[in-house]
Amino acid sequence: MRSFDSFFIDGGWARPAGSAVLNVISPATEQVIGRAPEGTTADMDRAVAAARKAFDEGPWPRMTPAQRAAILRKIAEYLDANAREIAEVLTDEVGTPLTANVNNNQGASLLVRFYADMIEKEGVEEVRQGLFGPLTVRREPVGVVAAIVPWNGPFFLLLLKLAPALAAGCTVVAKPAPETPLDAYYLARAAEAAGLPPGVLNIVAAGREVGEYLVRHPGIDKVSFTGSTVAGRKIGAICGEHLKRVSLELGGKSAAVVLDDAKVETVLGCAIPFGIAANNGEACMAMTRILLPRSRYREFAEAITDTVASLKVGDPNDASVQIGPLISQRQRERVEGYIAIGRDAGARITVGGGRPKHLPRGWYVEPTIMADVDNNMRVAQEEIFGPVGVLIPYDGDEEAIRIANATEYGLGGAVFTQDQARGMKIARAVRTGTIGVNQYTLDFCAPFGGFKASGLGREMGVEGLRSYQEPKSIYAVDSAS
Ligand code: NAD
Repeated sequence: MRSFDSFFIDGGWARPAGSAVLNVISPATEQVIGRAPEGTTADMDRAVAAARKAFDEGPWPRMTPAQRAAILRKIAEYLDANAREIAEVLTDEVGTPLTANVNNNQGASLLVRFYADMIEKEGVEEVRQGLFGPLTVRREPVGVVAAIVPWNGPFFLLLLKLAPALAAGCTVVAKPAPETPLDAYYLARAAEAAGLPPGVLNIVAAGREVGEYLVRHPGIDKVSFTGSTVAGRKIGAICGEHLKRVSLELGGKSAAVVLDDAKVETVLGCAIPFGIAANNGEACMAMTRILLPRSRYREFAEAITDTVASLKVGDPNDASVQIGPLISQRQRERVEGYIAIGRDAGARITVGGGRPKHLPRGWYVEPTIMADVDNNMRVAQEEIFGPVGVLIPYDGDEEAIRIANATEYGLGGAVFTQDQARGMKIARAVRTGTIGVNQYTLDFCAPFGGFKASGLGREMGVEGLRSYQEPKSIYAVDSAS
């Protein structure tokens, strides 16, 4: 049992203003495995005041990039030293297989070091030769940032915001989701261990209303949000009204476009682990629509079905398990609801469709494939957020591109072919922020984010740092000479 009774505010452990408690329930055992206080508006006021003071008067935004980088590297050291424990907490909270969390946590410290190196190397000022003489362009920190994250990848998604925001010199109020408040305490401990000045990072887990209060708070300059498209639209509207800066990482319905010359093993090796098996299917960038050429439809559909049938579902702490439980009973009901919607619309379930018989406890759903799906069906258009994939037949590359783009989302996807040039041609035509050819991966050097309703702005890469910086142009003439 992991229990916390305070928030991390102003560099210390602050008692909550209210008495509400978040009970963290293991998706695998349905038992309470942790507790943390639930934030109120009064807690948010304190957190924002601390972040505001640290930004307006504190040392952090005024340090040199090298000084900030040194503290970020100490945070990375803490993350490395505690990687195993953090992975275990994430598995307990979210239900993601432990092996995946251990791998992801290696990326966590790499990400922090990546932004430490970047800010140190590029600095925050450059002299440009202007039309009328030299001028200075500064990249100042954007201010106090509200970082709001969902439950599906809480630790890494928060770090994707914290690492560049802190490198830029911003101060942050982080709001983890009420389902997963525990892992962020390790970031608070990392901040303490690294000597991050008071108020630079504040963490208050809370629900949606208190989250919206944070978004509207006059002390917040920028909102960086990861979550559903529905909430993203609302947050974007509030930020527009207040002219706050905003970044939105939202939902997805990415396509795996399998061309008629693709190798079966390449497709299976990528479209399944980065599709329905990615984070138990609870992944924004999961390839959940698999587009198959009609000429080889049967062959691919059978191979995909066999592979999905062989996925091991069970206790996420078991190293051989590939699919764990869904986050909550509500989420399982939602996923089961979509399976019923697909069935009613005429989709053919080739594997799965129910609950695993050998797992009477825990919010498990069998990995499920729905074949013969039309792209206009709800199961092809709406984010299901569970281990469910749909197979959509098509004729010819042009139709594949049209179907891949016929969605409100635009987050990711991949093309599978033995012809690299043909793959690149399709990759260029698909309107998504990220796309792979015969692979699907994320590299911190490259921007990540969504076209269309998948979001606004980018994380990762130099673009991720820029979203926490305000450019300022200084025209200075020496009047002494
Ligand atoms: P959600 O939008 O309901 O909640 C996400 C977070 O926002 C939570 O902390 C929640 O408390 C808070 N929140 C919700 N409404 C709010 C509001 N009006 N004001 C302020 N805060 C608010 O999403 P969820 O169901 O918890 O998470 C799953 C969603 O997140 C999926 O749609 C998934 O695709 C998306 N996601 C996107 C990315 C990405 O990088 N594009 C990554 C992971 C998850």
